Amino acid sequence: MISLAEARRLVLEHTPSASGCERVPISAALGRVLCRELRSDVELPPFDKAMMDGVALRAAEAAVPGAELAVTGEARAGAGFAGEVPPGAAVRIMTGAPLPAGLDAVAMIERCELLDGGRRVRLADAARAEQNVARRGVDLQIGERVAGIGQRLRAAEIAALATVGCALVPVFPAVRVHLIGTGDELVPLECRPGPEQIRDTNTPTLAAQLASSAVIARAFPPVRDDAGALREAIEAALEGCDVLILTGGVSMGAYDLVGQALLAAGVREVFHKVSIKPGKPVWFGVLDRAGRRQLVFGLPGNPVSTFVTLETLVRPALQKLGGAEPALEFPRAVLSGGHPLKRDAREQFVPARLDLRTCPPRLAPLDYQSSADLLELSRADAFAIVPANQAPTDGAELGYLPF
Ligand code: AMP
Ligand code: MG
Repeated sequence: MISLAEARRLVLEHTPSASGCERVPISAALGRVLCRELRSDVELPPFDKAMMDGVALRAAEAAVPGAELAVTGEARAGAGFAGEVPPGAAVRIMTGAPLPAGLDAVAMIERCELLDGGRRVRLADAARAEQNVARRGVDLQIGERVAGIGQRLRAAEIAALATVGCALVPVFPAVRVHLIGTGDELVPLECRPGPEQIRDTNTPTLAAQLASSAVIARAFPPVRDDAGALREAIEAALEGCDVLILTGGVSMGAYDLVGQALLAAGVREVFHKVSIKPGKPVWFGVLDRAGRRQLVFGLPGNPVSTFVTLETLVRPALQKLGGAEPALEFPRAVLSGGHPLKRDAREQFVPARLDLRTCPPRLAPLDYQSSADLLELSRADAFAIVPANQAPTDGAELGYLPF
């Protein structure tokens, strides 16, 4: 059986790089991935600017504490001081105002005493040239890069884009993902399950895990464990998606028919089974047609298995397809308290509490019963990743998968 690392390598090797570019309004760009580099059309600041409310002056004329200067006028944001400032004079200035010509420092208002009804000022401190002044272009030059290809747009990047006037943002197309739960026991979540039935929890869970403006997820109704019904549902769901994710029906049971139905639908198997716990039966394949590649994942039906395999195997593929750099490194933390870990021949993902207030962060595994123990997940912050054939104890450093 292949390791998780090898499975991730194979998934990425079979995942096409992002292609295409579309423009979306900046109000809809959060979470999308840039498909083009953006450069500035302006200088920032566009003029020498006051960074404080106070008094603009020549530092050389206030080189010792207690200097007094005449106040000849005012400069505010959007309306600077026009004209010359005579020797020995200063200008009352507000944050964001242009620094009057010939002046080189701003004394903050809290350290200024205005005299004669504001006609003169006494400065508590010696002034230094350039204090509280931002020179034109120090933050951004014309033509300077503000964001690069593959950059995922957070509010901070949206601010940079707004600064350079990017009202329509060039982004990679959102990745279209179709989701299908399989199993004779499944009923849609709106239904009350009969005595041998359960609700399809995986489909809404996956949709929530995928919720982001860079992915468009569409959930299909659950399908029965029947080769014909599965094949028909798979063929229908393969229309109009980049990635098809099925859950359930990939184990070794007599009614685990998903792999076979996928092959019948023309999907080529890349791997079946990965040495992880939970998640071992996971299936991955590709369908190439009309010059286009679609990815197909069959995730095991147990809800925790589904959750882990989505995060570890599907997520990197979606990142690559969407134009972002796949995040493959797991952050690390130290095992501290919590339920003892058991050794297993497979790499294990154990729900754990994560304490980020300490350095390094601390992981405390929960008393987790089985891969069906969905409620335990809502008490966890992360999976502790236990390497194969190891039973780490307190103080050991482990990777973790936050969620
Ligand atoms: P399977 O992978 O089909 O062998 O299913 C493994 C376990 O997961 C069984 O107990 C199923 O009832 C359960 N299961 C499968 N699909 C889902 C689903 N969509 N929602 C909740 N549980 C599921
Ligand atoms: Mg099943």
